[in-house]
Amino acid sequence: ATPAATMVGTTIGAQNGVLFKGGDILERAKDVDTVVFDKTGTLTEGEMELTDVVVFDGDGQPVTDGGDPAADGGQLSARDRLSEDDVLRLAANAESGSEHPLARAIVEGAEDRGLDVTGPEDFENVPGHGIRATVGGSEVLVGNRKLLRDNDIDPTPAAETMERLENEGKTAMLIAVDGELVGVVADADTVKETAKDAVNALQERNVDVMMITGDNERTARAVAKQVGIDPANVRAEVLPEDKSDAVESIQAEGRQAMMVGDGVNDAPALAVAHVGTAIGSGTDVAIEAADVTLMRDDPLDVVKAIRISDATLQKIK
Ligand code: ADP
Ligand code: MG
Repeated sequence: ATPAATMVGTTIGAQNGVLFKGGDILERAKDVDTVVFDKTGTLTEGEMELTDVVVFDGDGQPVTDGGDPAADGGQLSARDRLSEDDVLRLAANAESGSEHPLARAIVEGAEDRGLDVTGPEDFENVPGHGIRATVGGSEVLVGNRKLLRDNDIDPTPAAETMERLENEGKTAMLIAVDGELVGVVADADTVKETAKDAVNALQERNVDVMMITGDNERTARAVAKQVGIDPANVRAEVLPEDKSDAVESIQAEGRQAMMVGDGVNDAPALAVAHVGTAIGSGTDVAIEAADVTLMRDDPLDVVKAIRISDATLQKIK
């Protein structure tokens, strides 16, 4: 492209809230044949809300009546009588050590119910899996199936509950206290209003649309379905450090991939992608690693970025 055409394209982009970091990027964007979206904060709002608390009794059976909070005074020895509030209070106190959006939703949900959240005595992050904390002298684990299995706790009694919540597109987390499964909490996120239209518009341009996430397979597929992404194009349970490898393996098939993401986790993947696109409200690390920034946080601007590149380069041919 001539410098003049590139400047026009870059300016049109900027006027539309699509910031290209340079003329070479503007030229590259038109060749994108695959767009890989991060899920949380990119296709979804990234604002989690606590939606469910399920209590399991001593035999690992879900308790439907929620138990009687007054009966046990929160004592863990009365495991079969832990109430919904007890379970939520333990999870929230444990999670108050974490900055993760999943954790913040649990803490806020507990506070909204008037529960006391004072924090853990001890706290440890288990990246991609959950957290481990000490609350009231007990060891509390909150996280996914892998977290429990790695701690020799069988998550299968919660299988049905987990699957039901995940099929609704929620992120369900297991809670174990002193080595025993005591409950499940779930957080839900909302899909961005224009996510489906963006996916649709890309597919109409014959661009393959994929999704990549650290979240579990079932939740990921439920969200993919809501926005029109083929379940076969979903890469779930990808650990933070493996996201860039996933993008590289997609590109190893000869594809020109655009990665779209918002998180610190996404930065390496944004850097290796043919075009890395960051959500403007995302973390600075992601914006720095990216080639394009979408100032309006609107998935439809992904289509706009490709269109502007296309139009700019066609004119000067
Ligand atoms: P993402 O940011 O893509 O949602 P993460 O890699 O941060 O994924 O987390 C992957 C999974 O690990 C989550 O879906 C959840 O099951 C579990 N997890 C991570 N952090 C926490 C946490 N603070 N509390 C409970 N579970 C967590
Ligand atoms: Mg994200």
